[in-house]
Amino acid sequence: MRALLLGAICALSLSTPALADTLVDNVDGVTVDAKGGIDRFTGLVLADDGRIKQVLHRGDKRPERPTYKLDGKGQFLIPGMIDSHGHVMGLGFGALTLDLTDTRSLAEALAKIAAYAQAHPDRPWILGRGWNQELWPEKRFPTAAELDAVVGDRPVWLTRVDGHAGWANSKALAAAGVTATTRDPAGGKIERLAVGGKPAGVLVDTATELVDSKVPAPRPEDRDLALAKAQDLLLAKGVTAIADMGTSIEDWQAYRRAGDTGTLRIRIMAYAAGTDAMSLIGGPGPTPWLYEDRLRLNGVKLYLDGALGSRGASLKAPYADAPGTKGLRITGDTQLKNLMSRAALDKFQVAAHAIGDEANMALLSAIEEMSATYGGDRRWRIEHAQVVDPADIARFGKHGIIASMQPVHQTSDREMAEKRLGPARLAGAYAWKSIEATGAKIVFGSDVPVEAADPFAGWAAAISRTGPDGQPLGGWQPQERVSREEAFAAYTASGAYAGFAEGRFGRLVAGERADFVLIDRDPFLASPAELRETKVNEVWVGGRKVWQAK
Ligand SMILES: [Zn+2]
Repeated sequence: MRALLLGAICALSLSTPALADTLVDNVDGVTVDAKGGIDRFTGLVLADDGRIKQVLHRGDKRPERPTYKLDGKGQFLIPGMIDSHGHVMGLGFGALTLDLTDTRSLAEALAKIAAYAQAHPDRPWILGRGWNQELWPEKRFPTAAELDAVVGDRPVWLTRVDGHAGWANSKALAAAGVTATTRDPAGGKIERLAVGGKPAGVLVDTATELVDSKVPAPRPEDRDLALAKAQDLLLAKGVTAIADMGTSIEDWQAYRRAGDTGTLRIRIMAYAAGTDAMSLIGGPGPTPWLYEDRLRLNGVKLYLDGALGSRGASLKAPYADAPGTKGLRITGDTQLKNLMSRAALDKFQVAAHAIGDEANMALLSAIEEMSATYGGDRRWRIEHAQVVDPADIARFGKHGIIASMQPVHQTSDREMAEKRLGPARLAGAYAWKSIEATGAKIVFGSDVPVEAADPFAGWAAAISRTGPDGQPLGGWQPQERVSREEAFAAYTASGAYAGFAEGRFGRLVAGERADFVLIDRDPFLASPAELRETKVNEVWVGGRKVWQAK
């Protein structure tokens, strides 16, 4: 027995000789190093288990006979980027849905719908969004009969660009039971034909729920398709890990299926969509890291308030452009503390959405109170931290708070934020630098699919406070810019820390997973405009190439 065992051990050690290493050489590499500084290097040795064995600098001796050698030909190499706030399945489903935003006539829309239906013969419903009759010469609502002429065999349901109306074909109207005798629901309208009162095809506001409620939930295979699509889109932008904000049990099962079949190429740090999903997925606590650090349920996503654009963000004082309202809290103080306790008791990490200054104040107070009860390393995450009263900013520096912010929101929201907040409250809006200066860890993300999952666009916004058009000159509230290095850390090493993944990935140092991206320019020398144009050439996760530009 003992001899057999020894033999087995010898065979094992023989089968993994020191030669089984991959050498990535001749690169212009940059990473946050083990001490939090910036390390420039020229090569990596990858072990067979997908981890980094050695970081090579100019003049370091290279392994003589690596199993595989990648000549980087002088390309720039950075760690895989971490998007600290996104919605993986939202990205995937959005990309699979028919997009009509670019159609300029009814005929063009119908042709696009017909082609899409033909390309997807197995979809039980044809779903789409983005039409706008105001952009068409017709300037009138389209009809069910017009849709029937191009897709008559299954229901079609197309949401208007603003989400406040939907266009159905006859199959969809029949599925929803909408007929000439159906009354308009409160707060909604069924567009009708002039003669006979039959539904014409477009349903407005609450009437859209009549069809929405009949759209079948995505099938597991639809979810798998959406996940595959989302992974492609993320990898194409150099994103190798993402914090998934609001994971449902169905989402989780799709991630597990991908892990089980070896098709999970990115890393997902999941935050359950509420405490019920949290318990359903995690049971008594966060899950272990699964599939070689590709998946873990870290905690729960909670919401304090809504968004600034729709005046749902909870403000301390009324909106500058709507003096009658201060916005709305989704979760009140008592309920919030109950939910946070429920999560913290079982060591789930809390990631709570707070946009308005009142919501941020309330969340900071709740964290202060929770910290007294639940000690230890909690890494309370404030998602967005978008508008903060300058009087509250210093409170970010205590209790290990992480501010999870989205640089591109600042450039997209700028004009809207000025209207909603007025000049007096802008000092604490998208205040990356001020919050970081308190000692809080800041991490960056995209909120994809609200914005594109493009860390290079985010990086450019973070260092310039200007949009893709270069406006405003000199940057908006430019005192809140962060340095190139700070933004880099917020998209890499800090993003890993915020998800309890430090030491596993996020840096290119010995012992961590070899997740890296080959790009076409030096992000530390590029202008903001050039940084936005960065092209991703190759993406590696866990020491394997998982994506390559065509
Ligand atoms: Zn979000």
